[in-house]
Amino acid sequence: MGLKVSVPAKINLWLEVIRKRDDGYHELSSLMLPIGIHDHLELKSHKGGGISLECDDLAVPSDASNLAWRAAEVFLNAVGSGIGVHIRITKKIPVAAGLGGGSADAAGVLLALNKLHRSCLAMPQLEFLGQKLGADVPFFLHQRPALATGIGEQLYPVDGLPDYPLVLIKPPLAVSTRWVYESLKLTRGESRIKLNSFMSGPWQLHGVVENDLETVTLAEYPLLDQMKAWLLQNGAIAAAMSGSGPTVFGVFREMSQAERLEALAKRRWGECWVAATRVCGNAALKTA
Ligand code: ATP
Repeated sequence: MGLKVSVPAKINLWLEVIRKRDDGYHELSSLMLPIGIHDHLELKSHKGGGISLECDDLAVPSDASNLAWRAAEVFLNAVGSGIGVHIRITKKIPVAAGLGGGSADAAGVLLALNKLHRSCLAMPQLEFLGQKLGADVPFFLHQRPALATGIGEQLYPVDGLPDYPLVLIKPPLAVSTRWVYESLKLTRGESRIKLNSFMSGPWQLHGVVENDLETVTLAEYPLLDQMKAWLLQNGAIAAAMSGSGPTVFGVFREMSQAERLEALAKRRWGECWVAATRVCGNAALKTA
């Protein structure tokens, strides 16, 4: 039996690092938004057991270290299923980009396998399994705008946000999330961005669109600062890095503006991956 699933990337409209916990993890406050760039997964189950995986992107491991493979392992163990599964991933989300691609694929596998097993697990059980794989995985199970707190795993859905048009630029660098957090010196102590005031003016983005991890990634790669400035000079109402980077995004009022800038950015930043897209306010699991 087979199932196809599409899973979105995310951006962090803001990302505040509140403090480092004794166990080494950082407490965050981040508004996470699904966006219209999707990986495509195809799962085929078979009798006889075993997991196998293929991916069209050679930068992504196709063994048990792939987060999608690990998601299958965790799910099949949890439900005591003896079936085997072959996972085929078509990557559209750039890898190691701060866009959550691995976590998205893991969530897609959990959702698809659950569907193949007649929805035997409820959402809280899937969230529990997702957390074992990574703090962002529960966000991708829901695929809805959410305020993430704790180490990123406590989610509060946020409704009524605009589907902000975006331009994303990712230079040909892979940034290790672990390196960024290990290098981080400053933490805030408390959250400065107040969700309530932001919700009363979701286009008032000044002082809202910011990312504490820029103190590490932008210091190492000043090019990213130039990209942010370029987006702002060319009509973005706000710009920041997503996650631990290196992708930077600009928020635009109109999709037509974003599309014009996408064409310009492809010329200006020739080496980079560039995309115009939108926030997906009401994204849902797409299966075929
Ligand atoms: P993070 O969630 O750590 O912020 P990211 O969004 O910046 O990560 P990913 O695209 O998830 O980056 O890739 C991080 C690393 O995970 C890569 O080095 C890659 O080799 C590995 N990886 C494992 N499984 C996957 C997958 N299914 N897709 C992409 N990368 C994967």
